[in-house]
Amino acid sequence: MFYTSTRDKSLRVTSSEAITKGISDEGGLFVPCEIPALGLSDIEAMIPMSYRERAKKILSLYLTDFTPEEIDYCVDGAYAEGKFDSEKVAPLVNLKGEANILELFRGPTCAFKDMALQLLPYLLTTASKRAAPDKETVILVATSGDTGKAALEGFKDVPHTRILVFYPVEGVSAMQKRQMQTQEGANVGVCAIKGNFDDAQTGVKKIFTDKAVAAKLAENGMIFSSANSINWGRLVPQVVYYCSAYCDMVEQGRIALGDQINVVVPTGNFGNILAAYYAKQMGIPIKTLICASNSNNVLTDFLTTGTYDRNRKFYTTTSPSMDILISSNLERLLFHLSVNDDAEIREYMDSLSKTGKYTVSDDIFEAIRADFKAGFATEEEDAAAIKVSFDLGYLPDTHTAVAIEVYKKLADGTPTVIAATASPYKFPKAVLAAILGEAPQIDEFDMSDELSKVTGTKIPAPLAGLRDRQVRFDSVSEISEMEQRVYDMLGI
Ligand SMILES: *Cc1c(COP(=O)(O)O)cnc(C)c1O
Repeated sequence: MFYTSTRDKSLRVTSSEAITKGISDEGGLFVPCEIPALGLSDIEAMIPMSYRERAKKILSLYLTDFTPEEIDYCVDGAYAEGKFDSEKVAPLVNLKGEANILELFRGPTCAFKDMALQLLPYLLTTASKRAAPDKETVILVATSGDTGKAALEGFKDVPHTRILVFYPVEGVSAMQKRQMQTQEGANVGVCAIKGNFDDAQTGVKKIFTDKAVAAKLAENGMIFSSANSINWGRLVPQVVYYCSAYCDMVEQGRIALGDQINVVVPTGNFGNILAAYYAKQMGIPIKTLICASNSNNVLTDFLTTGTYDRNRKFYTTTSPSMDILISSNLERLLFHLSVNDDAEIREYMDSLSKTGKYTVSDDIFEAIRADFKAGFATEEEDAAAIKVSFDLGYLPDTHTAVAIEVYKKLADGTPTVIAATASPYKFPKAVLAAILGEAPQIDEFDMSDELSKVTGTKIPAPLAGLRDRQVRFDSVSEISEMEQRVYDMLGI
């Protein structure tokens, strides 16, 4: 099986090359030339399997240049016992006969990014052993919070890798900052910068594409790679949990094998919901993919009108991981729906970068309407959804609550799986405010204790000891010093 680029369909690369490179040279994203098929008998065979076994089955269909031993090594390492605080890895919880919540936040950083970022380091090191043997891979990340921590946890102490994370000193929550400052591992580095997230991101991109920096790394046997969400190696692990959730729906007796389900996904960069689209294309009986947005509802408008327009007000919300106006992974969907028309995709993306908008063809819009529905939740609706859901027995985080609210607006009677993307304890202030009507005036660490007291739920272990953990990284740098910080951290 080969991969091509959304902006040059003549290209053919292996999955190892796609994962090692991250993005295609002409700026396109790697996509599978054909989406592998799963029949009902394949799905049936997966029902008695563990999460790890299901993952091996799905990954082997996409990563055809990996040996079975390599797939075993990657999956067994990523989802090893004890890494996720549920033996099901991504458990499915029933909301009193209503929808089903697919908990994707049971990993070491309590956000759904762990599902992919625990596996990516294994995929990347296995792939680059072929593509770039004997090199040490250096991962640079600019983060606004969740991705940086999840990448650090994923890459910590993975042989032949180094990971360096830059974050805006005033741009992350107290909880997120402490999570990164206390990161363990011999191959990790964390640095705050005096600037905002865009400054961090621009600085990282500059270092990443600077030929002189690359030459200096090469002298020391190192190469850069990316843990960015457009890497195919972050998408393919996400396809697994939608297949797994369908198996669990059957196993729990919520549906019969072959029945259709709907899936609701709280969406930002369009990665998570795109994974559900791949699961549907493979043959998992999914009727409708429901895209849930917060007040930054550019995707709601796009999926219901066919016009993508990022020229709008940007809102800072209580679901920050969905505060995005350019959803990069949408490009992959458009490529598939255009039936691999790379010229058409280049046109849309060109228009997006020049004017901030584009309108898709009637054919693409028809195809979108056949598979997708979309809605959004305001901040007030989000808070109300947290309260109502808690009163019914389930405490969601702010992102998951967006999906619960949109589910309520668009439910059509089909059994439904709602993706839950973070622990409520990652956003204790907003969750507490939703439940109490206002947040108490206490520091963010005390908020967790308070939330636990008020709701009778437990603080997840990775967040519980945070306040008392040893701070390892507390330096703050000027933006202009980022390149030097990279050399310092790498010791070159
Ligand atoms: C990243 C993230 C999202 C958005 O996922 P996309 O794949 O970017 O659409 C939603 N919720 C949480 C908690 C996240 O960290």
